[in-house]
Amino acid sequence: MAAYRGSCICGEVVFEVDGPFDRFLNCHCSRCRKATGTAHSCEVIVKASAVRWLRGAGSVARFNLPQASSFATAFCKQCGGPMPHLTRSGREAIIHAGAFDDSLGITPDRHVHWASRADWYRHGEELLVEE
Ligand SMILES: [Zn+2]
Ligand SMILES: [Zn+2]
Repeated sequence: MAAYRGSCICGEVVFEVDGPFDRFLNCHCSRCRKATGTAHSCEVIVKASAVRWLRGAGSVARFNLPQASSFATAFCKQCGGPMPHLTRSGREAIIHAGAFDDSLGITPDRHVHWASRADWYRHGEELLVEE
C-alpha cells in the first residue's frame, strides 16, 4: 500500500496518507475559494484512519464554520498552511492536495459545485505559460 507524505509551508507539521484515495476532486464552492484563496480547492478524500501525523499534530488548528453543517478548515498555527482535517462525522479526512510533498501519480477526476465557480476561473491549459 502506497503512502504519501505532506507538510505545511514552514515544515512544523508533517503527515502521511495511505492510498489509494477514495476521491480526488476540485471543489468550486465559495467557501473553498475563500479557504484556499484560489479558484477552487483540490481535495483528496480518504477514510479517517488513512491519515497519520508524523510531526507537529499539536500545531494544527481547526475551524468549524458555525453556520455550515459540515464545512471546516485546518491549518498550521505557525504558517497558516492548510492541513488535513476530519469531516465533522469523523469518518473521512480531507487533504488539500497542494500540501503533499510526494508525487501522487494521479489527478483529480471531477469538479464539484461547478455551478458556483468563479466567473474568472479558466482551465489551466487555456492560459499562457510564463516561465
Ligand atoms: Zn507550518
Ligand atoms: Zn468546497
